[in-house]
Amino acid sequence: MNQYAFMTIAAVTVFTTNFAAAQSDSLRQQRIAELADTVENKVIAWRRDIHQNPELGNREFRTSKLVADHLRSLGLEVKTGIAHTGVIGILKGGLPGPVVALRADMDALPVSEETGLPFASKTRAMWAGQEVGVAHVCGHDGHTAILMGVADVLATMKDQIPGTVKFIFQPAEEGSPPGEEGGASLMVKEGALKNPVPEAVFGLHLNSRTQLGRAGYRAGPFMASGDTLKIIVKGAQTHGALPWLGIDPIVIASQVVLGLQTIQSRQVNVLLEPSVITVGAINGGNRSNIIPESVEMIGTIRTLDEGMRLDIHRRIANSAQSIAQSSGGTAEVTITRDYDVTTNDEKLADFGARSLRASMGESNVFVNPKVTVSEDFSAYQKVVPGFFFFLGVVPEGTPPKTVFPNHSPKFWIDEKVLKIGVKAMVNLTLDYLSQK
Ligand SMILES: [Zn+2]
Ligand SMILES: [Zn+2]
Repeated sequence: MNQYAFMTIAAVTVFTTNFAAAQSDSLRQQRIAELADTVENKVIAWRRDIHQNPELGNREFRTSKLVADHLRSLGLEVKTGIAHTGVIGILKGGLPGPVVALRADMDALPVSEETGLPFASKTRAMWAGQEVGVAHVCGHDGHTAILMGVADVLATMKDQIPGTVKFIFQPAEEGSPPGEEGGASLMVKEGALKNPVPEAVFGLHLNSRTQLGRAGYRAGPFMASGDTLKIIVKGAQTHGALPWLGIDPIVIASQVVLGLQTIQSRQVNVLLEPSVITVGAINGGNRSNIIPESVEMIGTIRTLDEGMRLDIHRRIANSAQSIAQSSGGTAEVTITRDYDVTTNDEKLADFGARSLRASMGESNVFVNPKVTVSEDFSAYQKVVPGFFFFLGVVPEGTPPKTVFPNHSPKFWIDEKVLKIGVKAMVNLTLDYLSQK
């Protein structure tokens, strides 16, 4: 056999192997599509049920029971009560292979729903000492229902799965009630990523800025860190007509608000990463003719880089304290780190994008711009490589700008996204496990 003949045979072998692999991939995709069709109505029904019965962070008792009962009915190994109401299901495939984790969040928000849907929430509950409406206005009802559907499809395909799938249903992504721990960081603390340890974790978010059928992802920093800022400015109380006899914390607070805005515009390099500092509330004083003793300000800080985050924290403390000092007052600055930057592992993001393109269509998957909202999915990514992506909920023909954003009382999703989510997640899981 001459050298050229050998190369031809080798090329034919590679071609045949690739062809066989492609064929088995497309058969698998077809099977997933069929199974997604069969679970679609159930997924819609779960989503509506969860939507109509929303629960706040760390109080997802009914939702987690629904999830746990479903996972048990599929024959999964189920653990409950993790991080208050979290549920973990383990599906061992029929073939050897790695472990991969899939995550959904189950909590609703303290918002009164105004969608007018027949299954709209009428629930009310206590939040931070106040009675509030409760509604799924961030799409977590959809995330939970999608992952229940994914479990259903994968349980049916169990014998052909080369590895183990760990389902993580977590509470309190939007934050815990004041004074309580919760969410992804508590799930991790209580062992959600142990026994078995997953090699990778996948998660998605329904997104009101993206068209139905499309997915946005980004390698590297994707969603911002989110920190809570509290500043107490202290002055000296006096008569409103005699300011020179005291120290006015309202004027100091006003200067601090403006001073903080110069951190991004004048002090940090705007070319590196975007950042946001927002003062959301200023409270102080109770009469027109009294200069109060103190003013309290609260706000949020968003960054996309850990170094810049720490730098901005230092600059905020420095600006507030120096400004207060220049008027004879003081500023006590407290910054609480709530969410880390959601950073998609570069290699995993490349893989994830390929899988999404194959299952959703080449032109439907795009690189999303960075966003200044936060996600506690970042807590899992600190432990294992993770891939997080957005799925569009805006129906065809509707310009995204006319659609109500996540957290609006009128936030609404096209339920077609549920089946799209099931298919995308099942494909992602099996593509990952089969690549070994
Ligand atoms: Zn949200
Ligand atoms: Zn959310």
